[in-house]
Parts: sequence; C-alpha cells; structure tokens
Amino acid sequence: MSDGEGSAQTAAVETGGQSDNMTVAMDGQQQQQQQNVSITKDDGEPNPKKAKLSGGGGGEVFGRGGGGADKQHSASDKLEHRLGGILCCAVCLDLPRSSIYQCTNGHLMCAGCFAHLLADARLRDEMATCPNCRVDIAKNTATRNLAVEKAVSELPSECQFCAKEFPRNTLQHHEQQLCAERPVKCGYSKIGCPWRGPSHEASEHEKVCPHPSTTGKDVMSALDAMDQKFQEEKLLYDTIFDLMSFEKITFNDLQLKPYRTEEFVHKLYYETARFSAFNFQWVVKTRINNMQRDPALSVDRHMSYQLILKTKIPTPMSVHYLVVKGPFGDMKVNPKIYKFEFNENETETQFVTLPLPDSAECNRLLAAKTINLRLIMFLVSK
Ligand SMILES: [Zn+2]
Ligand SMILES: [Zn+2]
Ligand SMILES: [Zn+2]
Ligand SMILES: [Zn+2]
Repeated sequence: MSDGEGSAQTAAVETGGQSDNMTVAMDGQQQQQQQNVSITKDDGEPNPKKAKLSGGGGGEVFGRGGGGADKQHSASDKLEHRLGGILCCAVCLDLPRSSIYQCTNGHLMCAGCFAHLLADARLRDEMATCPNCRVDIAKNTATRNLAVEKAVSELPSECQFCAKEFPRNTLQHHEQQLCAERPVKCGYSKIGCPWRGPSHEASEHEKVCPHPSTTGKDVMSALDAMDQKFQEEKLLYDTIFDLMSFEKITFNDLQLKPYRTEEFVHKLYYETARFSAFNFQWVVKTRINNMQRDPALSVDRHMSYQLILKTKIPTPMSVHYLVVKGPFGDMKVNPKIYKFEFNENETETQFVTLPLPDSAECNRLLAAKTINLRLIMFLVSK
C-alpha cells in the first residue's frame, strides 16, 4: 500500500482519543442486546410467568371467574395505564422500546426523540432544550434511566398483528416468530408463489399451493429474477475486489466537524481537516439535505459529501472513492463506490449521497459532536 504511512498516522491521531467513549457506548448496547436476548429466549417456551406478566390479554381470561379477581384485574389495568402515562417519552408520548434518556430535571425522552432534539438544535445552531422544562440538554448532561427502561419493558403492550397484549420485552419475539397472525410468505415464494398471508394459514396454503408441481420451465423466470438481484449485488463486491488490485490505495480515518456558512441564514455543513493521500492534500465536506433552506423543518434527513483536492496537479488523475464506518465509529453506511476525474480545473467532486439507511441514522450522526468515517481512495494508474 503506497502512501500508507501517512494515512496510518492520521488514523492513530484522529481516532485515538475517542476509543474510551466508544467502548462505553458499545458496552451499553451490548448489555442491552444481551438482556433482550435472554428475555426473548424466555418467551420461546410456554412460560407460567407470562400470564402473570402480561396482565391485559391473559388477565382477561382469568379475570372472568370471580368478583375478587375482576377487581384485582381492573386495579392492575389502571396501574399499568397510569404507569404508561408516567413512563412515556415526553416528546412522542410513546412507551420507548430502546434506551430512555432524561434531562437534569428527570424528564424522560426516548432515544429517537433525544437524537432528533439534538439534531434539530445542531441544524439551528442552538442549544437543545428539554421540551418540558427548557433546561439545556446535551449528550454529556443527559443520562440513561435504566430503572425506567426495565419498568417499561415489563409493561404490557399490544401485538400489532393479533392485538393481544404481551410484556414489551417479549413483544418483538412474539411479533417476529410466534404470532399466528403475523404476515408470512409462502414457503415456495422463491420459485415464484406470490402468496402472503397470516402465519396460521400458511400450512393450509402450502398443501394446495400449485408451485411445487410447476415445471422447471415455469420456475426459470422466478430464478432469473433472483439471479439478476444477486448479480447486481455481486457486481458491487466484484468492483471492490478489482479496486483492491490497484497500484495505489489509501485510507484515512477522518473526523467531520460542524461549521456554519457565512450567508444570512447560516447553514450547517461539516468539514474534515486537510489530509494527505497519494502525496496530495484533500478535504471532505458534508452537507445536510443538499443545503435546503431550513432542514430543521423537514422530517426527511439525508447527507451528501464532496471530495476536494487542495493541491494543484500537473496531470489529470482518476480516483475511485468510498466511505465506510471508521474503526471506532458506529455510522451505518452502505458501500457505494464513486469515481471522479480530477484535473487542473476540476478539483471538487459533485456532492454525492452518503448512503445512510434512514433519516433516524442521519439524526443520530447530527446529534453527535463529530462524525467519524473512513475514506478509502483508489488511484487509477495510467
Ligand atoms: Zn419519543
Ligand atoms: Zn426537563
Ligand atoms: Zn400477535
Ligand atoms: Zn404458495
């Protein structure tokens, strides 16, 4: 790898200071995942505790017996209802499914709304405030509230398919694996059966499904369509492996920092410090919603980035480039390769999409102080 020394140094300096933070954050996530897993596992077996926990759905059946049980049931129903009102997110009023944050006065916010508030504040160049008490909120002053997270995970919640109630911590598993009403595909969908329906009807359908007895000729068109999808995906990876054989490859772990434009309505953009690649100086710039006038008003958020060559070059050069998540970053970005021909006059690429999965991921990046990414560049030798 030519130019490797310079890049490696940049990487060490720019990402070194952050490893601590990231480790903590990752630990938190892991813990949560572990918790979820163990909870989900419980749900797999018929569990005598479940009836007790679910209260709502299961409780109704038990409650019809005697007057005493009825009273108990309505009392617990009320308590659950009251708790739901107390433990919900102060912004969206939903009972959060993941992490719950609180302001210094204890007002609760779900992770999505918290990131959204911080992202809006970043876009408007203001300090984010708690929607309840207007106290400043920031990543380092807001704290998780684990007790609330655990309490919420025990509250009953309605399955979106069968409308029965389950403890929140088992709901996801129920909706994805167990619910008889959850939508599923026919087992022969891969050979062209378009049937979709509730899970409990699937085996009935599969018994009469005409697709298993179709001829190879009929199956071919379904296989062709599938093939095409695989080919498209394979092309991307083939391209990456081809690029791996280029003579000059370099990567830089970069940190994008927020800046404001000079114009009257200041707009947020991000820029890296200068970095070296192929013995030239470069900068990466990122902007939000393509410099839309007030992106804070839009729910849809996306980012695009531009690669700028800061050194005068004597001869044109063709560069392929791609962004992936940095070693200590947690950005969710899809691999997409771009290409640009730099010359004396053309030193800036157009703004190209940073392929993030959704607006929520964009908000999450905006909520953080800086954005870490790894830029890989391939120089076409002529
Ligand atoms: Zn919320
Ligand atoms: Zn507050
Ligand atoms: Zn269900
Ligand atoms: Zn079928």
